[in-house]
Amino acid sequence: MTPTVALTYDDGPSQWTGALLDVLAAHDAQATFFVLGCHIAGREDVLRRMVREGHAIGLHGWSHESHLHPGDMLHELQRTSDAVHAACDQTPVYWRAPWNRHPFTFVGYQYVGVDLDGRDVSRPADDVVATVVEGLRDGVVVGLHDGIAPNGELKVGDRLGTVDATRRILKHCRSMTVSELLAVRVGT
Ligand SMILES: [Zn+2]
Repeated sequence: MTPTVALTYDDGPSQWTGALLDVLAAHDAQATFFVLGCHIAGREDVLRRMVREGHAIGLHGWSHESHLHPGDMLHELQRTSDAVHAACDQTPVYWRAPWNRHPFTFVGYQYVGVDLDGRDVSRPADDVVATVVEGLRDGVVVGLHDGIAPNGELKVGDRLGTVDATRRILKHCRSMTVSELLAVRVGT
């Protein structure tokens, strides 16, 4: 049977998110985007398209700084949530910390980690596809990236490899949003 998973994308929105949305639409797949507040200005239309096409938006902080005092991290989440709401009238509840380092719990926000890390930031699509397809199981949350973090290991380049990898991964699984996947998990 084809496994049902939640594809998730961090560090966007970016100039490559539109191509990724095209691929998801072609496969009738839904994903969750953990967006960075600092990347929203000028790409509000991308967030609106995500919502229109059934995807979910989560929070990844504003600056992608990971070693923040809890109060500062919470402030980043709220500021990013406000920017998301202003852009597309959504109020995100899911969040994922930069580099998935999350020593804090915040009331009102639900943490979503990564079960299956595609390690796509600096690896070619072939390697990403091999890692993800091998790990596909019902109910896993797959971590990928549609943007480039301002302080990440990748300073130049693009996310076209992730777009290509997504197209190939979707031949091997169905993807739904994190909230849909968690509902299925609870129901089984
Ligand atoms: Zn990130």
